[in-house]
Amino acid sequence: ELHGNRIFIPVREKDPEMLKTAVRSYPQMGERFGAAGAEYLDDPEKCFQAIPDLKTTNIRNLGNLEGALYTARDAWVDPYLMTMAYIKHARRMGVDIRTRVKVEDVIVEGGKVRGVETAAGRVKCEYVVNAAGGWASKIGEMAGLEMPVKPCRASLIKIQLKEEKEYEMGMYFDVFESMTERQGLWIRDDIVGYIAGGDHDPIGLAPSVDPDDYNEGYTYEDVMKLADKLEEFMPGFGDFEVVDGWAGIYGNVGDANWLIDSMDNPEGFVICAGFCGEGIHASAAAGLLASELILDGKIKSVKDPSQWAYNTRRFR
Ligand SMILES: Cc1cc2nc3c(=O)[nH]c(=O)nc-3n(C[C@H](O)[C@H](O)[C@H](O)COP(=O)(O)OP(=O)(O)OC[C@H]3O[C@@H](n4cnc5c(N)ncnc54)[C@H](O)[C@@H]3O)c2cc1C
Repeated sequence: ELHGNRIFIPVREKDPEMLKTAVRSYPQMGERFGAAGAEYLDDPEKCFQAIPDLKTTNIRNLGNLEGALYTARDAWVDPYLMTMAYIKHARRMGVDIRTRVKVEDVIVEGGKVRGVETAAGRVKCEYVVNAAGGWASKIGEMAGLEMPVKPCRASLIKIQLKEEKEYEMGMYFDVFESMTERQGLWIRDDIVGYIAGGDHDPIGLAPSVDPDDYNEGYTYEDVMKLADKLEEFMPGFGDFEVVDGWAGIYGNVGDANWLIDSMDNPEGFVICAGFCGEGIHASAAAGLLASELILDGKIKSVKDPSQWAYNTRRFR
């Protein structure tokens, strides 16, 4: 189920030129790839019409608002329901999915993958796909490989405003500050209230945590980080109550790009991980590309494979 929504990505005076160019060119790019409907609002007044609360924004180090990427018709999905839908469809196609079975080792013989040892016994196979998210480095180690995926904690806070807004927010995403020195604000309206990022450090700066032992709840610090950002980016949202919150794991790669590749040694070991904060919307494409590596021996959906940016060679 897709929930209709609009997306708003602001551009500030002091954002890097490269990033401004990327945002401005997105509407044409979107059209080229069949995702029409995005526009670049080049006038702050137009931005204020879309999100009136931006008028009071007072961002310390990025200067005034210049414009924004705006998509009036976008959508969000419930990631749990989406995952369940993938499982249902895969089972219909004959895939045997075993939940709660831990992979304990990868069996490699003669430079080739031969199977996995699991808590429920050995499974023989020619290919192992390491799609273990924030645990991808641990699975890589089992095959004698170093995978540059760092598990980092990220939290979400669900809030309700004491006084409701008369307009729909959609999704506001100050994405580019996250590429500079700290994570910007992201917030979207939920069915009731809003969901906003709590503790989301920039990809390169986030500390790693043990993915088997981290705080899955939300903390006072998460809420205070959000409160600070709301005060700065969207002061009209400063008077809120926390309804709920939770934290999960980002599988971060230093350059904030994915890892979809097959290894020469051991042969048959495929990595499909490192999706940072994008694994939900990347999932359909990632699954297709990983399956091409196995079934066709190469990425087919990209016209020029030499341009394939998501390989592991960039870290070797
Ligand atoms: C707070 C938060 C907000 C986010 N918001 C968004 C968003 O708005 N949009 C978006 O696209 N993405 C978002 N993400 C990111 C997204 O959730 C991830 O990128 C995505 O879940 C990664 O999928 P994955 O399948 O690669 O890894 P995961 O979902 O982490 O799955 C890996 C699986 O491997 C299993 N596993 C680990 N070790 C073993 C083992 N030894 N044996 C067997 N199984 C094992 C784990 O139990 C887990 O189920 C968000 C993440 C967080 C935490």
